[in-house]
Amino acid sequence: MRYGEADRILHLYTPARGRLSAIAKGVRRARSRFGGRLEPFFRIHAELHEGRGELLTVTGAQTIDAHARLRTDAGALDAAARACDAVGRLFETGEPHPGVFNLLCRQLSLLDEDVEGPAGRRSGALGFRLKLLLAAGLAPQLGACTSCGEPEHLVGFSGAAGGVVCAACEAGSFRLTEEAHGFMTEALGRSLTDVPEAGERALGQVEMAIAATLEHHAHVRLMPAVGATTRPLLL
Ligand SMILES: [Zn+2]
Repeated sequence: MRYGEADRILHLYTPARGRLSAIAKGVRRARSRFGGRLEPFFRIHAELHEGRGELLTVTGAQTIDAHARLRTDAGALDAAARACDAVGRLFETGEPHPGVFNLLCRQLSLLDEDVEGPAGRRSGALGFRLKLLLAAGLAPQLGACTSCGEPEHLVGFSGAAGGVVCAACEAGSFRLTEEAHGFMTEALGRSLTDVPEAGERALGQVEMAIAATLEHHAHVRLMPAVGATTRPLLL
């Protein structure tokens, strides 16, 4: 965020102090001592001064990874913005979640390497969100009906109940195909580099299941997992 004449307020996600805000003074001057290191999606080692106010002051920054390739691809840039936004909304306090920090680092590296490519971008984004749910203690129950425990004939998903439901309990749920159910189970069990593929319809159901879970249990609403188009995001 631009601030004053030459400053910028940064939202940082840290392993030890969760999400925090810091001011970088003079960062927008041509000869700033921070160079171009305080840009979106950089992984940095930051030195911060803590005063009496809530806002910390950046006193030094070293680049660990600039994710330079990510910046050359509008789709990857957009995906990075959505990943950071999801972390910021779900983990908005100073409570430390080093696992979430590691997940975000991994996801930004993957986007920088572009291993997913445009085709796998939605599945990659949803795999990432499922892992964020797990880290937030909100992983949906997928092994048996959330209402009655029935292990088979699981046909729906209920955000209120927090997982899959069987045909007898499906009131108030929406349809979840076997493919969508399988995607969720596998994505939660695998690493981010190994998120499975699924069809658009199944991925749409997965996205609805994640949204319903977050809405009911965390009162959080996320941006769509991927943009409608790949138009560049203005930063
Ligand atoms: Zn049931």
